[in-house]
Amino acid sequence: MYKIITILILLIILFFMVRRAARAWIEQKPDQATPGKDVMIQDPVCKVYVTAGSAVVEEISGQRYYFCSQDCAKHFRRESTK
Ligand SMILES: [Zn+2]
Repeated sequence: MYKIITILILLIILFFMVRRAARAWIEQKPDQATPGKDVMIQDPVCKVYVTAGSAVVEEISGQRYYFCSQDCAKHFRRESTK
């Protein structure tokens, strides 16, 4: 009987630890994930606002940029690699 209670307590502790780890992991995620499709992001080239879902996404030297079109992305890449 005593053994069962000990195992139960350990299971409860483990449950809370896993839940806390899972919550920390979920809270951490939005920073790394791409913004929602409806989020408005400014094109760094022509300063137009585009939704993340329709934007042209370019990864330039580890940073992610959002452009209204391929032309702006190309222009920005050319400017940044100068
Ligand atoms: Zn643009």
